[in-house]
Amino acid sequence: MLDEQDLIRYSRQVIIPDIEEQGQEILIAQKILIVGAGGLGCPVGLYCAAAGFGNIEIWDNDNIELSNLNRQIAHQTNEIGLNKAKSLEKKCLQVNSSINVKSRDIVFNEKSDVKKFDIIFDCTDNIEARYKINKLAHQNKKLLISGSATQFEGQVLVIKSGLNKKYPCYECVFPKTSENNVDFNCRNAGILGSITSFIASIQVTEAIREILKLNKHNIEGKNNFYLQKSNAEYLILYDGSLQEINKIKLNKNLNCDTCN
Ligand SMILES: [Zn+2]
Repeated sequence: MLDEQDLIRYSRQVIIPDIEEQGQEILIAQKILIVGAGGLGCPVGLYCAAAGFGNIEIWDNDNIELSNLNRQIAHQTNEIGLNKAKSLEKKCLQVNSSINVKSRDIVFNEKSDVKKFDIIFDCTDNIEARYKINKLAHQNKKLLISGSATQFEGQVLVIKSGLNKKYPCYECVFPKTSENNVDFNCRNAGILGSITSFIASIQVTEAIREILKLNKHNIEGKNNFYLQKSNAEYLILYDGSLQEINKIKLNKNLNCDTCN
């Protein structure tokens, strides 16, 4: 049950038809992992905290640098040198002190324990980490929301291969080849903060939709329009230089080593 403070705090989303109190309670019950507290992880963390995802854990072993501050909006100039996960934890709790937020100064690796989480947000900036997160999310049957962005462009993948065999995993869409192992990230390609924030917003919106759907959120007599379609078979592409969003239909790779 939502208490009086929660009813006020979340009033603008609880009045959305088909979310209501029951939907908010589902969000509060979630345990989420945010891997990376950088350009994507900062807005993902802040929006998840504000929306009332009740249990948030943030992993990052990086320290804040001056060149991060154009996009990593939870971190401040006077925090240069501090751990990014710790900084984001603090800001999430400042936004919403009624939730649980924890940070860990660690790197995601193939032995990371993700069993307790309901949703994993991939907010990393390198392809090697993405493959590891994808593999563990699949093996542990977790909902994975993967985002990436460079320059004026970004993309989001909703990955549910562990929950339903018909859906592709990250590696189905981006098979391991020597070509995509080239380190093309924000460090050497550049990135705008307004682009990472836009991609992070899509990630959080998709997480809310998917988690309400997975929890069979179904207000009687209502038409849950926002839950009807999953993007688990699409690559969402945003091009900020043309202001275009496209969705590309994806196929599962029946030869994928990870999800078959
Ligand atoms: Zn696959």
